[in-house]
Amino acid sequence: QKPGLELAVVSVPSYACQRHTPLLHHNITLTDALSILAENAELGENEGRGVAFRRAAALLKSLPQEVRGAEQLRGLPCLGEHSLRVIKEVLEDGVSHEVETTTHSEQFKAMKALTGIFGVGAKTADRWFKEGIHTPSDLQRSGHTLNRAQRAGLQYYDELNLPVTKSEAVAIGQIVERAVHAVLPGAEITLIGGFRRGKQTGHDVDFLITHPDEGREEGLMPKVVSWLEAQGFLLYQKTTGNSYLESKEGPARPASNMDRFERCFSIFRLSTDNEGREIQTGNGPRSWRAVRVDLVVSPYSQFPFALLGWTGSKLFERELRRWAVHEKAMTLSSHALYDRKRTLYLRASSEEEIFAHLGLEYIPPCDRNA
Ligand code: ATP
Ligand code: MN
Ligand code: MN
Repeated sequence: QKPGLELAVVSVPSYACQRHTPLLHHNITLTDALSILAENAELGENEGRGVAFRRAAALLKSLPQEVRGAEQLRGLPCLGEHSLRVIKEVLEDGVSHEVETTTHSEQFKAMKALTGIFGVGAKTADRWFKEGIHTPSDLQRSGHTLNRAQRAGLQYYDELNLPVTKSEAVAIGQIVERAVHAVLPGAEITLIGGFRRGKQTGHDVDFLITHPDEGREEGLMPKVVSWLEAQGFLLYQKTTGNSYLESKEGPARPASNMDRFERCFSIFRLSTDNEGREIQTGNGPRSWRAVRVDLVVSPYSQFPFALLGWTGSKLFERELRRWAVHEKAMTLSSHALYDRKRTLYLRASSEEEIFAHLGLEYIPPCDRNA
């Protein structure tokens, strides 16, 4: 039996939300190459191209074995001409010329370094790059006026680019729980984002907060933030109120993929004493580190939608919404699911029910790593 011929026989569905995509998979070399090209496209604000590479990478992540030859890819969805070319090159030569050129390009390196600063997006980074600013140190020297987020991003640059470990996420979770329960007993806190998908490290820690008595969660965030600030746990925070109720567009038509929950983008000051770890800084070692933390508050009735929407991965979410619109004539957001043919909202008390409404097999969080 030739190795891997059976791959061509397996039929693979084309939406990532129809597939199981585990964290560990068999085609890392290929997906790493495609991810670089996706990242480069996103940094160049070419979203369509970025999504095409991400979809191709996600397809490879869902395959049950390693791809050894291009002939094994026949009949598989999601592989565009460009992605196929890159895959073939990597399979034959071990590397892709385009990927190599990209990773060594001054622009790509600078854009990555600059967007690696919290509060800096692709547009701003590109403007700075064109002024000759390539690194955070260049930026520091440039004398540019930075906003509050960017100042914090620059100040804690090295630490914020250090992966957050699972045990750090757990420690942050305990602090968040203390804060939330101090101001609203009975509130429920759920770890979301990459850690809920089983990742061992992340770029931040994400939490979803709700309360079984709908309405009790209103205005919760400012109280939680005050408590955290009083205890010295916050190095930076920006809280945004819930804009869902005032919205005239209606829940089914959010202006973008951004949802309208009350939220807080923050930087925590986490003690590293327990781990006996010291952080090296320009001013010598210290026993705490900065960690990015996102907090989101959801009304209880929207909780399953918020949970599904904030567990990710980003591509999995995008594919869910695309499936809903194109295959089911429904609109899915982190707030609700709307059936456009029956013109009604579909209720759900669990993620399982949302998948069922969408006519999809339930995919557990650990298999949403598309
Ligand atoms: P990492 O480990 O790098 O943090 P992650 O999957 O947790 O990976 P995040 O950027 O923290 O990535 O996002 C977590 C989830 O929250 C994603 O599914 C994303 O779609 C969702 N999300 C992030 N920001 C927003 C936002 N502003 N509005 C709505 N959803 C968001
Ligand atoms: Mn995250
Ligand atoms: Mn996040």
